[in-house]
Amino acid sequence: MMNLDVPLSHLVRGKTVLSKLAHLGLETLGDLLWYPPRRMYRWGELTRFDTLTPGADVTLFAVVMSSELGWTRRHDKAMLTVVLQDELGLDDTLWGARARRLTVRFFAKHPSALSFHAKRLEKGTLGVFAGKLSGGERDAFLAHPEYQVLEDYDPEVARELSARPQPLYHATAGLPSWKIEKLIETQLATLESVPEAIPADLREAWGLPSAGEALRWLHHPENDEQHALASDYLRFREGLTLGAALAKARSQIQARPAWGLDLEARRGESGEPLVKRFLARLPFELTKGQETVWAEIAGDLARETPMNRLLQGEVGSGKTVLATLAALLAVQNGHQAAFMAPTEVLAHQHFETLTKLLGDLGDPFGGFAGLEAGAETVPLRLLTGSTPAAEKKAIQAALEAGESLLVVGTHALLSKTVKFSNLALAVVDEQHRFGVEQRVALLSSGERAPHFLAMSATPIPRTVAMTVFGDLDVSVLSELPKGRGEVKTFLVPEANVTWVTRAWARAAEEIRAGGRVYVLCAKIAPDDPAESAARGKSSTKSAPEDLETGGWNPSNGENLEELAPDRVLHTVEETATYLAAMPVFSGIGIAVAHSGLDAATKQSAIDSFSRGETPLLVSTTVIEVGMDVPEASMMIILDADRFGLSQLHQLRGRIGRGSRPGVCLAIAPLDFPGGGGEAVTTDTVARSVKTSGAGAITPAVERLEAFASTRDGFALAEADLRIRREGDVLGATQAGRNSRLQVLSLVTDAEIIEKTKDAAAKIVNADPQLARNPELARLVFRLGDGENLTKS
Ligand code: ADP
Ligand code: MG
Repeated sequence: MMNLDVPLSHLVRGKTVLSKLAHLGLETLGDLLWYPPRRMYRWGELTRFDTLTPGADVTLFAVVMSSELGWTRRHDKAMLTVVLQDELGLDDTLWGARARRLTVRFFAKHPSALSFHAKRLEKGTLGVFAGKLSGGERDAFLAHPEYQVLEDYDPEVARELSARPQPLYHATAGLPSWKIEKLIETQLATLESVPEAIPADLREAWGLPSAGEALRWLHHPENDEQHALASDYLRFREGLTLGAALAKARSQIQARPAWGLDLEARRGESGEPLVKRFLARLPFELTKGQETVWAEIAGDLARETPMNRLLQGEVGSGKTVLATLAALLAVQNGHQAAFMAPTEVLAHQHFETLTKLLGDLGDPFGGFAGLEAGAETVPLRLLTGSTPAAEKKAIQAALEAGESLLVVGTHALLSKTVKFSNLALAVVDEQHRFGVEQRVALLSSGERAPHFLAMSATPIPRTVAMTVFGDLDVSVLSELPKGRGEVKTFLVPEANVTWVTRAWARAAEEIRAGGRVYVLCAKIAPDDPAESAARGKSSTKSAPEDLETGGWNPSNGENLEELAPDRVLHTVEETATYLAAMPVFSGIGIAVAHSGLDAATKQSAIDSFSRGETPLLVSTTVIEVGMDVPEASMMIILDADRFGLSQLHQLRGRIGRGSRPGVCLAIAPLDFPGGGGEAVTTDTVARSVKTSGAGAITPAVERLEAFASTRDGFALAEADLRIRREGDVLGATQAGRNSRLQVLSLVTDAEIIEKTKDAAAKIVNADPQLARNPELARLVFRLGDGENLTKS
């Protein structure tokens, strides 16, 4: 059987061509053969030469009368001139021979580049030629037509050919579609048999052709059905490959046993197990959702197969409590648990949260002796880049010695100097920042593999979860945290001065009633060129450990629409000055926070906002993560169209955290034709008449209308996926994984993704090395190439 892994460099000559192919991601014979056309088109009805009009798309059945390779008149380009004679109008006696002639021209830098055409289009050759007519009435010619050579004179065959779907490949400069077609054709011609990746029973169940048929129909279908079947085949093939890669990764990660953790285990002679003591002293009951997820997690942890679970739930949905339970379970069984956050700030926050949650169960300051028999407390340690060296050493020594403790940290925990010799559980918050390699690094030390719990506050669409995190089991905490106030969202067209004025008045009322108000701006100062505040990826102003980059936020780096050249964005500095001068805010303290301030200044602004001394905070997305001010009840987002949907959602999550109902006003210089044009009226915020309806439904409008329509993060994530180019979603999700999907759509192919994922898991379970399906094994290997998913 043909080895589809043969590098193209063995088959194709020319460094330039090879590098262009590589640019398209085509490196092996298999890549090239299965390269799908960007789209199909038809040449159209055959045209008689006497009906030709300049500029028209024509399809001609003709014979080559002469062919001459030479140069253009200016001698700056090689030119192949081919004279065609119409074969369709042949019987027409009234027609003079001259009128049945048409010139075809091909141009290139060097004559050698034209030899392919010159050889094929020798005198006497019959063919069908398609293209757009260049030149004028008298000197019409066809430049670089598509064409196909015919063996015999047969107008019927020509007619059929002209009606066939023709492939058009995604081309790059210097490698036009027809060249790709020719390369594929050349290889197809020598192919003996096509290796099959999809087992026959699955093909039958999914109504797919064989690999051989699919490959032929992919490039040269006789009709649309064949082409549709070929692209189905390709999508199922991609789903199966991805599913198999993820299943393999999972089975390799799970190859080493983990510690089975006993809910009843206890470290001391007396008393209840830690988990029970913790639950008993929690000031609240677990919600139904938390109970369910805890049962899932505890069930996983009881087994010696490493847990691989993603826990999804909005900020405040109670994930941390569950992770703490899992960590305590590890500790009560005499093992270590690690809690990792993407940034130092968030690690500190986690450490504080855990210290508070554990109360007198925790021992954050004691020695490093660990749990002795009979001890009552859980040693809790913080290990980050800024931990003092001596303390760092002591913690590392304790970890290496296998002492049972709970350690909180950043990536620093994964550095080579940290050796966990007794790690039973790794909790990773916002796992998107932790690449597969890091996970593997963590898994590779110690006697047994740790259980792995990833947590994410960012709702991930189902198809993304399946393709990107498909090797993980997923638990979802969907209830909003208890006691959360209602939050209403209104879209305000900035041009409506009355509404905007009313919005500020409403903010003042809110503050005088004891609330706090956030005002969000997309920029820090007028000269802030990078629009860094909204994007969260400022050039110099925000350090990597800044709150602004903390936590996963798919809006970071998201491609928002191009900013109109005349658009002036509101800035934190100008807005604060402007608001301070407004009579409605007289006597109200205003604070500003953004990443341009040093950490202490920023923190003190945030603190004074929390305490209510400056109940109006004008800021950038610096408040997106980690701010928890229960009194905050209103948010006004300026230039709301300059924020991504998930970012808006995260921002809005800062209000309505206490029992006060919240109001979110998204102001943008847009019309909201979908009825989002809701206004602030005299003393209540109320739905108003729709705006003129003249506004266009742009992605920005769609985004904001989706935002106003629901607070359900999962619904918003799905909407985001529909509105945005899906590549952006994946690209932001985890670097290096964005090129995974070539033909599958995260929006429309959910069913295929699901079906193939399940089928692939079964295949891998029965045949972990894919020994019985070498073609699938090859595809999985190709997929893993570069960022090898399956290395252990
Ligand atoms: P997350 O980690 O998902 O952001 P947390 O676990 O930090 O959420 O919980 C957010 C807040 O809600 C914390 O103050 C926590 O103590 C509280 N909380 C968690 N679970 C419950 C519950 N079942 N009932 C009431 N409050 C809860
Ligand atoms: Mg949290």
